Amino acid sequence: MIVKAVFLDRDGVINRRIPGDYVRHPDEFALLEGVAEAIRLFRQSFDCIFIATNQQGIGKGRMTVADLDHVHQYMLHLLEQQGATIDHIYFCPDLAHQQPNCRKPHPAMAFQAQKDYPELNLQQSWMAGDSLSDLQFAWNAGMQPAMIATNPEETEKLEAYLLSNPMPSPPIYTSLLEMAKAIK
Ligand SMILES: [Mg+2]
Repeated sequence: MIVKAVFLDRDGVINRRIPGDYVRHPDEFALLEGVAEAIRLFRQSFDCIFIATNQQGIGKGRMTVADLDHVHQYMLHLLEQQGATIDHIYFCPDLAHQQPNCRKPHPAMAFQAQKDYPELNLQQSWMAGDSLSDLQFAWNAGMQPAMIATNPEETEKLEAYLLSNPMPSPPIYTSLLEMAKAIK
């Protein structure tokens, strides 16, 4: 059996991004519109739904793994109330300058999922993110990328990147729900 997954970035895709800061407490976590419906739709076309999120706030000492866990328990609770479930949350606490590190765009979190789910087929899997680094993560892991254009700065970065690195442009959607309706 071939297992197809959709990987979701968290901040800016599932919940409102806090520019220049981290979601450190459930009070600061705000689900974006249509996300639960999107996840329910993904459940019809994908075998697994994962989250892959960089959480450098932990490496910086701004929050603990327990803080992140509280936020994630709250997120899963909100989603489950609307019939949406996530199979696994992968997070990277490393600092950007640490070497080696597991942060996107490095494909470490996708490769960890491949270890956890040996039948996972990354080539048939998708990654949805609002940052260029999410798309690079998809390319580095051999997955198909989709841009959720909630952050205009990152959408511009993607356009500049494609100018200097000619390759097929990934599909760009205004929301996760728009993607879920388009990707089957
Ligand atoms: Mg993001």
